[in-house]
Amino acid sequence: MGKAFLRAIESGKTYSIDEKRFESDSGELLEVAYEFGSMDTKALKEKFAQRGSSQNPLDKSGVWRFRELIPFMRSETNVVSLSEGNTPIYSAPKSASYAGVKKLSFKHQGLNPTGSFKDNGMTAAVSKAKELGSKTVVCASTGNTSASMAAYASRAGMNALVIIPSGQIAMGKLAQALDYGAKTIQIDGDFDDAMRIVQELAEEKSVYLLNSINPFRLEGQKTIMIEMLCQRNWKVPDRVVVPGGNLGNSSSFGKAFKELRELGFIETIPKITIVQAEGAAPLYNMWKNKSKKLEPVKAHTLATAIKIGNPVSWQKAMNVLEYTKGSAAVVSEKEIADAKAIIGSDGIGCEPASATTLAAIKNLAGNGIDEGEDIVAILTGNSLKDPQYTVDYHSDSLFEEFEGKKKKISAAYANKPIQLPADAKKIKHEVGL
Ligand SMILES: *Cc1c(COP(=O)(O)O)cnc(C)c1O
Repeated sequence: MGKAFLRAIESGKTYSIDEKRFESDSGELLEVAYEFGSMDTKALKEKFAQRGSSQNPLDKSGVWRFRELIPFMRSETNVVSLSEGNTPIYSAPKSASYAGVKKLSFKHQGLNPTGSFKDNGMTAAVSKAKELGSKTVVCASTGNTSASMAAYASRAGMNALVIIPSGQIAMGKLAQALDYGAKTIQIDGDFDDAMRIVQELAEEKSVYLLNSINPFRLEGQKTIMIEMLCQRNWKVPDRVVVPGGNLGNSSSFGKAFKELRELGFIETIPKITIVQAEGAAPLYNMWKNKSKKLEPVKAHTLATAIKIGNPVSWQKAMNVLEYTKGSAAVVSEKEIADAKAIIGSDGIGCEPASATTLAAIKNLAGNGIDEGEDIVAILTGNSLKDPQYTVDYHSDSLFEEFEGKKKKISAAYANKPIQLPADAKKIKHEVGL
């Protein structure tokens, strides 16, 4: 197996993989880098496929099955796994026709153990935390990171400390953090405030930070793309579309494709399109204006998972857009809400942030995205995370509140519940039986 180290993304300065460190001495982001050596890619592809039917817990995990491509652990006995990954790729004919494209499929990361792609990253980072001997792990969260961290920390026998913006995270996610036993602190502030606070807390020796500034999270999330390629018999799609919040996921996808190409697993790479909500689009603004530095915004969107105004991994994400010749996109609240209902009509639930993908593909079809492209969109979270949003939408009573102003989001595909007396005749009449 290869040698692993931490590397600063600009200067290239390296640090030991055993250091508890989240930035370089000069404040740059870090990535996990490897000296992979040469690989028998054909044999490894076969091995990855065979492991799918093995009973070894490492092989059953949709992350650790690909361990040769994330070789940063000193000992496999420290791995903390909940059989994460193993998520399906769905065809989606109604969504494709809504967007006006021919070949669209969804890889549904919401079907992970805690209901979001955060599990792919969390198994990696909590395993590393265990290897480093950490007793307490901490994160700021818009909800899914805390749900996932709480579960993996409990599996590992660690204390979990979660900092969340009060009243701004979806009920399902809060419920999970409480249920998995995390100490849950609700602050009077937004995600960006919570992020600032946990970085301060993480200066304590005994505390390990599990936000996506933690480079091991991104190593786990790389396997989302590796698994996708495996499922497609290594046929590379033309484009991958992914929502962007703190920009860890999109960064990890780019890293996966870069390494897979350098190692000879694939010859071409897909373009990556990163989608943000209109009210939380600092990366899109930067990309559109070709600016050199990210300008933070005060974020607002009902897609709370991507309600982030000052994303940590913007430099990595910009590098990915450049490397993959990708693009950034922005969608409105109404476009997100309607797209979510269309994905639902394909029999596939997802949370609002995930539906930004379909909304963007519809906007860009014929104008940035070729209608014939083979597109894989990533559904990042489970529909049951935020049922109130869905019920409000279908009752045509979905509102966004921003700076004291309430704005209705009109639901083009509302499927309202119908109130009737307990009388079969009346129900028959209503539904035309
Ligand atoms: C965390 C999350 C995102 C945003 O991912 P980043 O890596 O922060 O860009 C999008 N959707 C869902 C459901 C999430 O939980």
